[in-house]
Amino acid sequence: MSLFAFQQQFPDEASCLAFMETQRWGENGANRYCPHCGSLKSYRFADDKLFKCGDCRKKFTVKVGTMFSDSHVPLQKWLYAIYLNTSLKKGISSIQLAKYLGITEKSAWFMLQRIRYSVEKAGRGDLLGNSVEADETYVGGKRHDGMRGRGASGKTPVGSIAERKGVIRREVTENTKAVTLDKIITDHGEPGATVMTDEYRPYSHVTKLGYTHRRVNHGKKDCVIGKTTPLLVKVHGVTYSSVSKLSTLAFVQSTCKSSAQNMSTATLPGS
Ligand SMILES: [Zn+2]
Repeated sequence: MSLFAFQQQFPDEASCLAFMETQRWGENGANRYCPHCGSLKSYRFADDKLFKCGDCRKKFTVKVGTMFSDSHVPLQKWLYAIYLNTSLKKGISSIQLAKYLGITEKSAWFMLQRIRYSVEKAGRGDLLGNSVEADETYVGGKRHDGMRGRGASGKTPVGSIAERKGVIRREVTENTKAVTLDKIITDHGEPGATVMTDEYRPYSHVTKLGYTHRRVNHGKKDCVIGKTTPLLVKVHGVTYSSVSKLSTLAFVQSTCKSSAQNMSTATLPGS
């Protein structure tokens, strides 16, 4: 795309927001959901930028839960930065970018970090974005000691990360320590995404990894992959009834047989 065509397509902030809304939520926001709780009930404010969730009542914009969140730089400048960084053969330095966009070098550096990180991650496969839920569970092994979930003896730990669209990734892990679970989140979660977890302590520094962290109570119905229900039953309130617990278990076990860092990606029906 030429710079001229780019400027014509994105002449102002409104056109950039409209573009992003379509990219993220489909035409006319048909699949718009709340990045905080996943609810499909939300309302647009008169200013055209802000939305309010009909369930959790929190406000959000199209940028929440993406690489553009927590940034005061307008979306138009972000899109310009992405355009410049990808269309210039050698990319662009933060000093150059700051001059082009009329922002501080510090902001430019921050933006380039996020852009490069996303590009690099995208090169290794799609990142799960917006609103994802992370959890770990144990599969296989004989369980007669009455222990469930974490700490269950003879079982294989499996870390999972799932997003609203229904994509779920599972990885056999050595353990369920913070450093292990962090890696699953950073390997598969888009920077800036909202990561929902339960109260398990190793998740306590997800915010430091550059994500918005929200804890969900496993006792509540909207939890996704829980240790009480070890396999995926619901994604943000959407029930995947066509996926039985048994077939999901078979899927995990078959993909985790070699027990090394075995990765699988599955798109669940109904997503
Ligand atoms: Zn909500």
